[in-house]
Amino acid sequence: MDIQSIGIVGAGQMGNGIAHVMSLAGYDVLMTDISQDALDAAVALISRNLDRQVSRGKVSQVDKDAAMARIKTTLMLTDLGPCDLIIEAATERETVKQKIFDELLPHLAPHTILTSNTSSISITRLASRTDRPERFMGFHFMNPVPVMQLVELIRGIATDEPTYAACLKVVEKLGKTAASAEDFPAFIVNRILMPMINEAVYTLYEGVGSVKSIDESMKLGANHPMGPLELADFIGLDTCLAIMNVLHDGLADTKYRPCPLLTKYVEAGWLGRKTQRGFYDYRGEVPVPTR
Ligand code: NAD
Repeated sequence: MDIQSIGIVGAGQMGNGIAHVMSLAGYDVLMTDISQDALDAAVALISRNLDRQVSRGKVSQVDKDAAMARIKTTLMLTDLGPCDLIIEAATERETVKQKIFDELLPHLAPHTILTSNTSSISITRLASRTDRPERFMGFHFMNPVPVMQLVELIRGIATDEPTYAACLKVVEKLGKTAASAEDFPAFIVNRILMPMINEAVYTLYEGVGSVKSIDESMKLGANHPMGPLELADFIGLDTCLAIMNVLHDGLADTKYRPCPLLTKYVEAGWLGRKTQRGFYDYRGEVPVPTR
């Protein structure tokens, strides 16, 4: 099937990035959120990010204007029903995602493909509670979406071939590269990345290193472009914790136990860049380590 319209649920870090790349690639985008402020902030951010691409000569002003004109927003989730493809990018909590799909189901067009940008939750389980497990799959972008080249495409046990092919075509139209992953907790990237971030938090928790020395060690010693704690702040500590919990529960192995210090930061509401405080404090001119 040929996909033309894309519904995006959630206008947070990922939702706005997905709307950005989809509209630039020529898709009509309808984005929803529970918060009007989140929708307004997302549209303003997309415009600013596109301006940056224009000033670097990567996107023309005409293409920017056309992309912005293709993005519409609504507070009514059910308005997304007729879209060809829906990408759910709301908060990483299964009950939240479940409620969204339950509410959407009666309003979907028969051909609509449902997908989730979840970092870790079982696609098969999410799909099984819908009326279309064969037209349901994981569509997992990386953060920041306009910059990162990879998209993980995750087949649930029932996902059919035309659905996979249609999503692959979208990834190709975006000029990105798809990696096919099986539906096991956290798929490929986060299965490898999150235990490393969690181990960095343990290293901090046990006093082996400070925030600064841990990040510097991995940047200069392992040639990582960002330190693991800086990266955790960038991803969102709530999302990191949620993914560790999914790994821990889903694989039943104590090696995935979330570090208590990660839990404590999340309990404090210090979720990283999005709340201006995490392993670093971002409220001043330069980020300052909090430990
Ligand atoms: P975020 O906290 O920045 O944004 C989540 C948005 O969802 C918020 O704007 C919130 O208002 C909205 N929301 C919550 N409940 C909703 C509902 N019922 N209906 C509509 N909107 C609702 O989170 P994020 O970082 O954008 O993550 C979103 C999803 O993308 C998660 O599943 C996450 O695991 C996944 N993901 C995140 C990253 C990352 O690096 N942050 C990378 C890949 C995938």
